[in-house]
Amino acid sequence: MKLEKLQKELLKIDSNIKAFEKDDCIFLSGEVDDYSKVVKACELAVDKKKYLGVVSKLKVKGFTQKVVLPSINDLKYDKQECDVLIIGGGVTGCATARELAKYNLKIMVVEKGPDVASGQSSRNGGVVHVGLNFSTSSLKLKYCVEGNNMYKKLSEDLHVPFEQKGQVTFARTKIEMLALAIFKMGGKKKGIDKLELMNREDLLKIEPSVPSWAIGGLWMGTGGITCPHKMTIALAENAIENGAEVCLNTAVLSMKLEDNLVKEVVTNRGTIYPKVVVNASGVYADDIAEMANDRTFTIHPRVGTDMITDKKVGHMVNTSMGKTPFTLSPSQLKTIPNNPIAKIKAMIKNSKSHSKGVGLIHSVDGNMLVGPNADETMDKEDTSTNRQVFNHIVEVQQEVAPNFKASDVIAYFTGVRAPTYEEDFVVRQGIKTKNIFEAAGIQSPGLTAAPAIGKDLATWTHDYLINCGYNVEDNKNYNPKRQYKPVLSELNYEERNELIKQNKDYGQIICRCEEISKGEIIDALRSPLPVYTVDGIKRRVRPGMGRCQGGFCMPLVMKIISEEANIPIEEVSKSTAESKIVFANTK
Ligand SMILES: Cc1cc2nc3c(=O)[nH]c(=O)nc-3n(C[C@H](O)[C@H](O)[C@H](O)COP(=O)(O)OP(=O)(O)OC[C@H]3O[C@@H](n4cnc5c(N)ncnc54)[C@H](O)[C@@H]3O)c2cc1C
Repeated sequence: MKLEKLQKELLKIDSNIKAFEKDDCIFLSGEVDDYSKVVKACELAVDKKKYLGVVSKLKVKGFTQKVVLPSINDLKYDKQECDVLIIGGGVTGCATARELAKYNLKIMVVEKGPDVASGQSSRNGGVVHVGLNFSTSSLKLKYCVEGNNMYKKLSEDLHVPFEQKGQVTFARTKIEMLALAIFKMGGKKKGIDKLELMNREDLLKIEPSVPSWAIGGLWMGTGGITCPHKMTIALAENAIENGAEVCLNTAVLSMKLEDNLVKEVVTNRGTIYPKVVVNASGVYADDIAEMANDRTFTIHPRVGTDMITDKKVGHMVNTSMGKTPFTLSPSQLKTIPNNPIAKIKAMIKNSKSHSKGVGLIHSVDGNMLVGPNADETMDKEDTSTNRQVFNHIVEVQQEVAPNFKASDVIAYFTGVRAPTYEEDFVVRQGIKTKNIFEAAGIQSPGLTAAPAIGKDLATWTHDYLINCGYNVEDNKNYNPKRQYKPVLSELNYEERNELIKQNKDYGQIICRCEEISKGEIIDALRSPLPVYTVDGIKRRVRPGMGRCQGGFCMPLVMKIISEEANIPIEEVSKSTAESKIVFANTK
C-alpha cells in the first residue's frame, strides 16, 4: 500500500497515528487510548514486499512496560571478553550455544531469569510440529521441517523424552475432508512426509478417541511431543559440558556501538565485551535489536493458556489431536455464499490464522495437555491466568473430548508468544549492525524449530568470525551426548534394585505422585547447571508436578536443597530470590 493511502487508513483507526518510511521499514508513531488500535494499525501497515518490517513506536496512554529484572546487582561478569554472547536462555539461545560449542570459542549465554527456559520455552504445549499450515516461502516452514527432522537424534543424545505418534486433525463433513485433501497435497512441496487422509475406521486404529462426529481426518505422522523445559535445560547442560557458560539472573540493559558494531553489552552484573552477539531474547527481541541499532520489526505479545490434567485421564488422547484448522464458526458460515468452493476457500484462509493450538495432547509424562488459546496483550510479562479463558478452553476442547471435565485439570499456565507483525521468524545477520545475529519473532513452532535455527546461527557466527580474520578451530572434545542421569520411573524393578544397591538415595521416594527419589534430586543439584530452587528441581526431575502439586513433597525437597547448597531452609526460595516459602520456625 502506498504511504499516503496507508496514512489515510490509519487516520480512520486513530487520528494520532503517523506513518513514515525509514531504513526500508515502515514506522508508526503516536499515542492512542486503546491497545487494540496499535495491533490494528500495525497489521494494516504490514507489506512484506515493500518493507523489512513494521517498527511500532506507538504508545498506549497510561501504559509503560514493566520489565521484570533480577534483584542481583554485582560485578560477577564485569570486563569479561567473549567470542559470542547469546542473549536469552530459551530453547533458541540454548540450542545455539550447544551448536556453537562444536568450535573452540568462549560462549556466554545471559539469561535474565533465575533459570533457563524462563520465558515461552517452559510455557508451551511441547508439540514438535509438522508445519503443514505454514506458507512455502516462510522461515517458519523451513525451520519447522528441519527442526522436526532433528528431534529424534537430539532427544536420544540429550536423554530427553520424545514421542512421535503423529498429529490427527478431524473432519466433520465431506467438505472438510476435501479441504484436508487439498491441504495434504501441499505437503509434498513443503517437504513433509507421512501424511495420510483416513476414514473414521482407520483413524480409530491410531487414535482410539476419535470424536463421534468425525467422519475421518488427516494423520500427520511426523508430529511429535517433547518436554519443553527438559529439552531447554538439556541443551544448556550439554552446551556447558562442551565449554559454554550460562549466566543466570543476568539481564542485558544497554549496549555501546562503534563503527556499526556492538562493542560493549551492559548487564546488571557488569559490562561484557563480545565479538558477536546473538539476539534470542523472545518477547524482548525488538528492544534488544533496538539497543543494537538493528531494529526492523516489532514483537506484539500474544498469550496462550495451556492446562495439564491428572494422569488418570491421560488415556483420553494417544496422539496430539484437534478439530481441523479450517472449521468455520457459525458467524463465518452466515457470511459465506452457500457453495462448496466458497466454503473451501474460506476454510483454507482460516487455516492460515496464526498461533493455532493443537487441542489435546498426550504429554510425554502421561498427562493430557489441553489448549492453548491465542489473545493479544500489551504486557510482555503477562503470564496471568483467568477463569474466563479456562472455561473457554474447556468448552472448546470438550467438543473433541466430551468426557474431559474441568475437574481433571491439576494445573494451568500462561505463556507469552513473541510474534512479529509479519508473523514470520526473523533469523539473519544484522542489517546495519554486522556483529549481531537475530533470532526474533520465534513464536510457535519455535520449540520445534530451535535446533535448526541454532544450527544456522552457529554456522553464520563461525563464518563471520573467520571472515573477520579470527582463527576458529573445531572443539575436538565436543560430545553431543549429555551425561546420563537415572530416571527411576523409567526403570524396571531389577534395574531399580541394582541402582539402590549402588546408592540408597535412589530408594528414598520424595515425590509419591511422580515417584521421584532423593538420588534423582541430588543428581539435579549436582548437574552442570544446578538451580537451588524448588521450581529449578521441579522442572528438572518433576517433584510437585503430580496431583498433589507439591503439597506432600515440597518441604522434603526444600530440606535436600538446603543440605546440598549448605544454606538455611529459610533461604530456599520457589523461583526468584524474593519468592520465599518459609520465614521462621513456628515451634
Ligand atoms: C502457549 C504457547 C504454546 C506454544 N506451543 C508450542 C508448541 O506446542 N510447539 C512449538 O514448537 N512451539 C510452541 N510455542 C512456541 C515456543 O514456545 C517458542 O517459539 C519458543 O519457546 C521460543 O523460544 P526462544 O528461546 O526464542 O524464546 P524464549 O523462550 O522466550 O526465551 C527468551 C529468553 O530471553 C530472556 N531475556 C529477555 N530479555 C532479556 C535480557 N534483556 N537479558 C537477558 N535475557 C533476556 C527471557 O527471560 C527468556 O528466557 C508455544 C508458545 C506459547 C506461548
